Amino acid sequence: MAKLGRPSRPLDVRLMEKIIIPPMCTWEHEDRCWEWVGAKTGAGYGLIWDGKCMVLAHRVMYNLFIDLTFPIRSNDRSIVLDHRCRNKGCVNTFHLQVVSQRENTARGRLCDLKNKTSIYRGVHWDKKSKKWHVQAQLNGKRVYLGRFHNEVEAAAAYQNFLKDNNEF
Ligand SMILES: [Zn+2]
Repeated sequence: MAKLGRPSRPLDVRLMEKIIIPPMCTWEHEDRCWEWVGAKTGAGYGLIWDGKCMVLAHRVMYNLFIDLTFPIRSNDRSIVLDHRCRNKGCVNTFHLQVVSQRENTARGRLCDLKNKTSIYRGVHWDKKSKKWHVQAQLNGKRVYLGRFHNEVEAAAAYQNFLKDNNEF
């Protein structure tokens, strides 16, 4: 018997209703952000009611699709579910990665050049060359990492740079 005022439909069904998923016609599908259109925290993270309290939508997504043991509600601040795309409203599980708080802070500190044309950090579109340019900052200096036809390859170059410099 359903109780009044309680959501009767499963969490995963209600979750998927609040996500705008890009068209699945190409492999790029995996690389685009899935935008959360439901309630959000002040910081921009998706929120959903799990029957008892409001929980973070991207954590629920990670739990449902990647790792059922991943805690949706966690008081353990040493484990952070990081958005590799830096889009807090994104719930694409391909963009989520479990990192330690220390790693997350290090990534935030390695601030790269802001741009609006790519969802990936350090990647921006160059109209002249019609390629994706990759730049990072290390010890206060700009480092040019190259130009790429493919946005994802450009993002990978950036990630590799972070790894090579122990910032990942
Ligand atoms: Zn994303």
